Amino acid sequence: MQKLSSGAISGILYIVATPIGNLGDISPRAAGTLAEVDFIAAEDTRVTLKLLNHLGIKKPLISYYAHNMAESGDKIAARLLAGESCALVTDAGTPAVSDPGEALVRLCASAGIEVISVPGPCAAVAALAASGLGSGRFTFEGFLSTARRARSERLCELKDERRAMIFYEAPHKLLRTLSDMLEALGDRRVSISRELTKIHEETLRCTLSEAVETFRERAPRGEFVLVIEGAPPPEIRGDPSAAQAELERLSERGMSLRDAARLAAERFGVSKNALYTAALKGARKQ
Ligand code: SAM
Repeated sequence: MQKLSSGAISGILYIVATPIGNLGDISPRAAGTLAEVDFIAAEDTRVTLKLLNHLGIKKPLISYYAHNMAESGDKIAARLLAGESCALVTDAGTPAVSDPGEALVRLCASAGIEVISVPGPCAAVAALAASGLGSGRFTFEGFLSTARRARSERLCELKDERRAMIFYEAPHKLLRTLSDMLEALGDRRVSISRELTKIHEETLRCTLSEAVETFRERAPRGEFVLVIEGAPPPEIRGDPSAAQAELERLSERGMSLRDAARLAAERFGVSKNALYTAALKGARKQ
């Protein structure tokens, strides 16, 4: 916040991350920026007003959301060029991540306005960290298209993606999405984080088929992020010993032999029946 206190901030756009549920997650720097800028551009001014009231901040608000981006973006850029400073916030999390903001950043950058990120909560990163799935390399997919064909085409393109994949999904579409993923990607491990940082927060780590079963029995409620494990490397497909090792690993974790055989066979491209039969024989010998 030195730039703000020194008074040398004229004409800066601050991209400010806000809590995804727990208000305690607002950073001192984010709160300080909101307190010191000339005005705040908000996705929904009513939502932001609640946050500002919680922080005891009074500040002029301007709305910047999906349907007024062009018009509102021009107004914001003009004010920034005239020397004012602005904080952009969305309803929750990091602006420009599946949220309005990207176009404003582009507009400001092309007009020579300085853009500064004030990092903080982001549902995708919070879910990835809790997933235990390939956080070394991952890819962010955000929301799948609602159009059936576009969605299944995208999922088919992702079948061989090796990195863990992060998706956002609305509760009423969750079951459909999990079923489509199961069909397109095969039975893989998935980590489903719900209501992160809120009272009913939970993370379910299972396979896609188990997730489909779970949400068939229990209607999904709240906000969800899915992290799906990437495809195994091509060189280990069709590898019976890798499949055997995977089956042992899964059954040691408490998965039934049948499910472990199905998942390991899918991952390593071997026959499910052969793997299951061999595992049964092995189990009988013990
Ligand atoms: N820009 C935001 C961010 O950085 O997290 C994401 C905005 S996007 C419009 C909203 C989606 O993020 C929700 O549909 C849900 O998939 C996910 N999300 C937001 N808050 C969440 C939470 N507390 N728990 C789980 N998912 C959340």
